[in-house]
Amino acid sequence: MTDTQTLAELCEASNTKFILAMFVDLRGKPCAKLVPVEAVDELATDGVGFAGYAVGAIGQEPKDPDLMAIPDVSSFLPVPFIKEGLAIVHCDPYVLGKPWPFAPRNILKSLIAQTADAGFEPWVGAEVEYFLLKRDASGSLITADAADDSDRPCYDVRGLTRMYDHLTTVSTAMNQLGWSNYANDHEDGNGQFEQNFAYSDALTTADRVITLRYLLSTFAAERGMVATFMPKPFAERTGSGLHLHLSLTSAGNPVFPNAADDDERGLGLSPQAYGFVGGILEHAPALQAVMAPTVNSYKRTGATATRSGASWAPRVPTYGGNDRTHYVRIPDEQRVELRGGDGSANPYLAIAAALGAGLDGIKRSLDPGALGTCPKHISSLPLTLLHAVEALEADTVVTATLDAAIPDEWPADSQTVSQYFSHLKREEFFAWHSAVSPWEVDQYLTAF
Ligand code: GLU
Ligand code: MG
Ligand code: MG
Repeated sequence: MTDTQTLAELCEASNTKFILAMFVDLRGKPCAKLVPVEAVDELATDGVGFAGYAVGAIGQEPKDPDLMAIPDVSSFLPVPFIKEGLAIVHCDPYVLGKPWPFAPRNILKSLIAQTADAGFEPWVGAEVEYFLLKRDASGSLITADAADDSDRPCYDVRGLTRMYDHLTTVSTAMNQLGWSNYANDHEDGNGQFEQNFAYSDALTTADRVITLRYLLSTFAAERGMVATFMPKPFAERTGSGLHLHLSLTSAGNPVFPNAADDDERGLGLSPQAYGFVGGILEHAPALQAVMAPTVNSYKRTGATATRSGASWAPRVPTYGGNDRTHYVRIPDEQRVELRGGDGSANPYLAIAAALGAGLDGIKRSLDPGALGTCPKHISSLPLTLLHAVEALEADTVVTATLDAAIPDEWPADSQTVSQYFSHLKREEFFAWHSAVSPWEVDQYLTAF
């Protein structure tokens, strides 16, 4: 698949009859219109229209002009294993002929451009963890696995075998798409899985996370199951992360490794790599509003989360070598693994925010300090979504990444993307906070 082929040619070559023209809102919700191949030329030139306000979190009011989703032809993906003749194309939303600054894909593209201005090209790998659930006789969601009782389910061979049909259907699809699925494993929670694909450029990887969530949900539903990316569906099991592996190249050469590094930390890294990690740690509290953007996220990493070693999810923004209890793990000299993100993260925004924070660290030559320590002014990751939103609002570097697609001519009195995102997330926090939970009734009903 190349940029030189038109959408019509790609459809013809792949026997595509219908195209899902897809984009996501700020919450990461995938939206699409199903376009027949007869209309492929209009789709390629004009895009397909959406009432922005109906989409959800995309920064539009009912009176605003339509959002036109214009296909990125290079993202064209035939998915005949979902439906014969079906393809997906990821789109860039435009309003009145201009890229819409509230569209996550446009935001990530702006950060990739900023990274290029700084002299680097970013490469990103993403790990999608998820649970497979089903409904019991009373309609409650329970683990789909027949044997839901293992003390040590991680890498469990029998769990893999029981879910063989689902896992191999997904694996075959990934490889048919050219994503190089290289491993599939039973994760640390009963009923939890991870299916890996090779790293790629930042935009391709973000598109793949969205496509993979769609494939996993669809394949699971075909077998009467629900695939969930909810960060912490079960309080007593590990949560589902969206770990991001980031690296930079400059003129095709890796920027992070440095054989001449004689620093006592022994990581073999370049000053840019130390700066990048320093930036990630410095901005970690604000980054978490984007990496872990739901109230449920903080049950994985926040006040009530189990300690890092037990859940493999970080509670404090530390870094280390090949140690999975840290916020930033450095498995080798090539890349850094950010472990703060979870399954509710919007991959475009999470990658954009991480790039913004890392670039700031390089620009300011921030030093991440001794291994296993936090920046002085930070004692933990945010305890709740509200703490994270407050940290985001106070961090001009991370808010600037969310606002990266706003053009110069944007009216000064119009809300920015970061203001809108914070508003959405603050409302989400208070909607949750105002609900009376069974736990409260249990604790307080007859206590006084
Ligand atoms: N599930 C863990 C998390 O919530 C990560 C486990 C792993 O390292 O694969 O981040
Ligand atoms: Mg994992
Ligand atoms: Mg990982």
